[in-house]
Amino acid sequence: MRDTLNFLSKLSWRRLYNIAAVLVSFYYTRLTGKARQWGLPFTISLEPTTACNLRCPECPSGLRAFYAPNG
Ligand code: SF4
Repeated sequence: MRDTLNFLSKLSWRRLYNIAAVLVSFYYTRLTGKARQWGLPFTISLEPTTACNLRCPECPSGLRAFYAPNG
C-alpha cells in the first residue's frame, strides 16, 4: 500500500502518457505479432544478489534459475 501511494504521488501527465504508450505498444504487439515499442520503461527492478536461502516457487532466485553464479 505504501509503495502504491508513493508511486501514485510521483505521477504527472507526462508520466501517465508514457505509461499509456507502453501499454498500447504491449497490447499492439500482442494482438498483431509485430513488435512495437513506444514510451520508456516506467519501473525498474533491481536484484542486488542472487543468493537466498529460501526457495519461493515463483522467484528466479528461489528456483536457482539465474544464469549468473550465486552470490
Ligand atoms: S522471493 Fe526469492 S529472493 Fe525473496 S525470499 Fe523467496 S526465494 Fe528468496
